[in-house]
Amino acid sequence: MPSKYVAAVMAAPNRPLDLREFPEPQLEMGGALLQTLYSEVCGTDVHLHHGKLAGVPYPIIPGHVSVGTVAKLRGSITNVYGDDIREGDVVTFLDVHETCNHCYHCLIARQPNRCPARKVYGITYSAADGLLGGWSEAIYIKPGVKLVQIPPNLAPETFIGGGCGLVTALHAVDLAEIRLGESIAVLGVGPVGQSVVAFAALSGAIDIIAIDAVADRLAFARRMGATHTIDLGVARADRLSRIRDMTHGVGVDVVIEASGHPDAVAEALDIVRDGGRVVVCGHYTDNGSVEINPHWQINRKHVQLRGCWGSRYEHFHRAIELAQNFGDAKPWRELATRTFGLAETNEALQAVGSREVVKALVRPAQS
Ligand SMILES: [Zn+2]
Ligand SMILES: [Zn+2]
Repeated sequence: MPSKYVAAVMAAPNRPLDLREFPEPQLEMGGALLQTLYSEVCGTDVHLHHGKLAGVPYPIIPGHVSVGTVAKLRGSITNVYGDDIREGDVVTFLDVHETCNHCYHCLIARQPNRCPARKVYGITYSAADGLLGGWSEAIYIKPGVKLVQIPPNLAPETFIGGGCGLVTALHAVDLAEIRLGESIAVLGVGPVGQSVVAFAALSGAIDIIAIDAVADRLAFARRMGATHTIDLGVARADRLSRIRDMTHGVGVDVVIEASGHPDAVAEALDIVRDGGRVVVCGHYTDNGSVEINPHWQINRKHVQLRGCWGSRYEHFHRAIELAQNFGDAKPWRELATRTFGLAETNEALQAVGSREVVKALVRPAQS
């Protein structure tokens, strides 16, 4: 590998990204250097580019979920089974790390995804900190970052096609506690919603209703396992009555909101059955407010309303195993319809932001 690496740098919100060279990092004990195979462009990167996330230390190297080949490592790095990670292994890594295991959230609430010390590759690091984002020829793996091998029978393209949405969707479906034979509505079938549909089907949901404004996304959701689709062009009252008709008047057992539209949260509370579960995972950034009637929509309905923020290692690990086992049945690989080189990340952000593609990949070797 060369001694200098090129990365795409987002210097500030709303400015074109530019390419910069970085020196080869000195590996700390327990650190590693990945040669990047793929990183991804998701909605969060578009939000980063629009300056919609608080506390981001621009300039940054974006790219939170990535796949690469271990080019170098120092000391011993093992996976959760105690097996060595070796040079040449194709791996991915949990982008969220440095959770402290000392604070209230880590130890009492047991929700390290809310640990204030947590760091995220591609989001909370400045480019001045080094190669800590995936839109780069190489990624520095800091000591303690959890590496996972991509199994030989899992194409890297399948895993990264699902990407961060795969992991978020698994967390959301866990929170929804879907039981065999239940019905579910998925509001918004972008990268997260598509995987929610897939996991709901694998969880034994029978009626899976996908709702979105983009016809191609609804068609893709059918391939993921949706049994019904409703176009957002149908008036809200009519959407509600269609879902009532499908469910003998009671509403769906589970709604997962993955659209990022505040109105969808209110709609979720309307279409869920009494005593059902609603999981909100589409609002990673502040998209505004919505009016909710607590009596009619929550209290009287006895609804369980749950927020879903980020993910933990367990979600990441199981997402890889699910992609490995069901990647032939669920077309995650085809979710990413375009691949961009490092010099084309502005076009990649445009393609994702305009919803022209569900997901774009960044492939540094392409540039
Ligand atoms: Zn903590
Ligand atoms: Zn993402």
